[in-house]
Amino acid sequence: MSKQITKVAVLTSGGDSPGMNAAIRAVVRTGIYYGMEMFGIMRGYNGMLEDDIFPMNSRSVANIIQRGGTILKTARSKEFFTYEGRQKAVANLEKRGINGVVVIGGDGSFTGALKLSTEFNIPCIGLPGTIDKDLYGTDFTIGFDTAVNTAVEAIDKIRDTADAHDRLFIVEVMGRHAGYIALHSGISTGAENILIPEAETNIEEVIASLSEKEKRKKLVNLIVVAEGDEFGGANQIAKIVKERLPHLDTRVSILGHIQRGGSPSAMDRLIASRMGYHAIESLMEGRHNVMVGVLNNEIAYTPLEIAIREKQSISSDWLRIVKILAS
Ligand code: ATP
Repeated sequence: MSKQITKVAVLTSGGDSPGMNAAIRAVVRTGIYYGMEMFGIMRGYNGMLEDDIFPMNSRSVANIIQRGGTILKTARSKEFFTYEGRQKAVANLEKRGINGVVVIGGDGSFTGALKLSTEFNIPCIGLPGTIDKDLYGTDFTIGFDTAVNTAVEAIDKIRDTADAHDRLFIVEVMGRHAGYIALHSGISTGAENILIPEAETNIEEVIASLSEKEKRKKLVNLIVVAEGDEFGGANQIAKIVKERLPHLDTRVSILGHIQRGGSPSAMDRLIASRMGYHAIESLMEGRHNVMVGVLNNEIAYTPLEIAIREKQSISSDWLRIVKILAS
């Protein structure tokens, strides 16, 4: 075991995602297994600033693997954006001798972690906890699989009512900068059109495909759109469709926050457990300031600055699959 890392704190930051608790559990129990002193920080960087830091043991994380949300709560902290704020936060770590931090969150949280490490030399590990899957260096993020499954369950129900009334449903799913939830849930529910920020939305193509399907008497029509689509989301699409094809019975459904909640899927519990374990191993082995991800089912480490800076691209295959399978 590394001589340096003896006291490790874990926090969850930014938007919550199902599986964060499983990750906290894995970090705490692995740290304890290796003889480290473990701490929890409440409400992300806010708790670090306000000294809301407490010791954790194996029992602190009992019976949480199946729970959505995060027992450490999460928040966004304005003060942490300032150097003075971070100085205050670091003083709270230092007075306890905390010499390693595991941050579970998205790219913003990782930017904060990177500053802790570059400005104050505190080794940090990032675990990708975000439903959007918008981080480079990992095939999965903690919470993504559960969010997709929640969206699929909801869209299946919408499809039943769309079918009963021969309606067109435009369903908006989460994803401010990334269309993965829309893509995965749209393909899994047989959506005719999937509109995502990574691909330019051509409204003429959407209208043409609806008209063509109408001619072929394809009655159930489903469009899944990511909230961050550059065209403006479900309401904007519906407005134009209603203007251009007024005879269609067009409805909008915005799934919203249900996608963040609920018990994590087995897949999310599994990757959270693996990543949490490897976060501690990584600290011990001196592999600091990296994000622990999973690529091709292998654990992969990506420097935090690269995980934040680089963008995942969506291969054109995915969009071709949507077109061919919806015909
Ligand atoms: P999500 O993907 O769910 O939005 P996130 O981690 O990207 O999660 P943010 O709100 O962007 O969420 O960031 C969470 C917190 O991380 C911020 O409130 C702030 O405290 C810290 N943070 C973000 N960016 C910076 C930055 N540039 N410098 C210092 N701290 C930052």
